[in-house]
Amino acid sequence: MNPHSDYSLDKFLLSGLEEIDSRGLTRRLSALDGPQQPRVIQNGKELLNFSSNDYLGLATHPELKTAAMAEWERSGFGSGASRLICGTLAAHEELDRAIAEFKQTPAALSFSSGYAAAMGAIPAICGTGDVIILDKLSHACLVDAARLSGALLRVFPHNDLCKLESHLKWASAKHPGAKILVIAESIYSMDGDRAPLREMVELKERHGAWFFLDEAHAVGVIGRQGRGLADEEGIADHIEIQMGTLGKALGSHGAYIAGTSTLRKFLINRARSFIFSTSPPVPVAAASRKAIEIAASPEGDSLRTKLWENIRHLQSLLSIKVPASAILPLVIGNESAAVETSARLLDQGFLVPAIRFPTVAKGSARLRVTLTASHTRFDIESLARALHGSAALKQERPSLLAR
Ligand SMILES: *Cc1c(COP(=O)(O)O)cnc(C)c1O
Repeated sequence: MNPHSDYSLDKFLLSGLEEIDSRGLTRRLSALDGPQQPRVIQNGKELLNFSSNDYLGLATHPELKTAAMAEWERSGFGSGASRLICGTLAAHEELDRAIAEFKQTPAALSFSSGYAAAMGAIPAICGTGDVIILDKLSHACLVDAARLSGALLRVFPHNDLCKLESHLKWASAKHPGAKILVIAESIYSMDGDRAPLREMVELKERHGAWFFLDEAHAVGVIGRQGRGLADEEGIADHIEIQMGTLGKALGSHGAYIAGTSTLRKFLINRARSFIFSTSPPVPVAAASRKAIEIAASPEGDSLRTKLWENIRHLQSLLSIKVPASAILPLVIGNESAAVETSARLLDQGFLVPAIRFPTVAKGSARLRVTLTASHTRFDIESLARALHGSAALKQERPSLLAR
């Protein structure tokens, strides 16, 4: 720290932190002491975990471990370089092929993370003079990538097909010749609801746009063999750029873009997050491939059956409308009330995070409950009892039911 400066970095940072704190928005890290699973230890206390995206419980699956260790024996740990230098090892190519086969697309390209996939692919495809139209609730990485691209941005209210159509009409009328890219998720990460994909496909085709779909919370959970919502709706072939992550239901780490082999070749040449970044450790690639194999197997089907039984069970205990995914948002509204409710649940042994601004809009703070195939009926019944005892949620009952 420079004692002679009135504007030392720490002074600036502290005032920023105070400002965040004054709005009740301070966030802190809290490590788990042990693996990612329904029962976790945090700060020496056993908690029932209802906050993980490990929907199928694959993060601790013994076969992922075996696959990772076998790959470690075969090729070591780090990949040593970016994919285009000498960091493409057999495990990376095998993973890319496995993703393409799983997604039933001609090709796929894996990335180090979902964030990197979006940041690489979107600005590779669209730039200045193009138009990107995205759903208001799109994940931060999609928004950041759209901004980075330099394209004109138009946002439509969440799942609002009329507004999407008017943006599409505007784009094709006012920007003839521009590329138009529609960006959306299939399952929204903080609301757990589904996008009207069939209608969106129809609209983007009518107006000559392309579709970039992020299936982060649908892969493994929805669709035949867990291929996602586009598969379930039978319109996967109409979505030019299909993104998904390997770190959620697939229990590993990384992400992919699936599409034509031309798309893959183009991204290898143009996606900067792919080109200028060391490729993932090979044991991670091997674990991802194993996870896809399990998700697509009869074992994957039975894990999905168990997951959906769990979802329906909690839904009936809370008398809420049938959730569209493994994510159940219990909207409280006020930021502090959400944080307090989450803290009270923590005292009672439940890990249910409060999600607030800037992750969701101001005044729509919520508890975000996620379920996995590894939860037991008993786990779910305990959570339901604790939620029934929660004052903030009782007050918010009407909005809960409206969702
Ligand atoms: C988690 C998530 C991402 C980011 O993926 P990571 O692999 O965690 O970087 C992207 N999009 C959506 C919708 C997500 O939920």
